Amino acid sequence: MPICAKCQGEAADDELHEYSGQMLCDDCYMDALSPARTCDPWAVYTASRLTNQELNPAQESILALLHKKGQAEPKELGEACGLAPKELEREIAALRHMELIRGALTPAGRKVIKLFSDRA
Ligand SMILES: [Zn+2]
Repeated sequence: MPICAKCQGEAADDELHEYSGQMLCDDCYMDALSPARTCDPWAVYTASRLTNQELNPAQESILALLHKKGQAEPKELGEACGLAPKELEREIAALRHMELIRGALTPAGRKVIKLFSDRA
């Protein structure tokens, strides 16, 4: 079995990828690539999902809605995802903690939720 240059783990031939002259396993290869992709919101979203973050269905639908609409008011999110205000509050707090979403103010002063990577 070939050995990964980074984690020294054994990897099948088809799981090895060359990166700066080293042969890395799937996991280490993804790690090595991810810093270069931090400007791609979808990649960040996907990469952060791949770490240790298990999202529940409510959190999934909140993120899906924000990906589609760009931003939404908390009330709107609650209605679209079928969550009571208390539940919504909890899911939003969890997603903020994971740095997947953040709060923002529109020019009109309304509070909205955006994807964390959305700097606009
Ligand atoms: Zn490895």
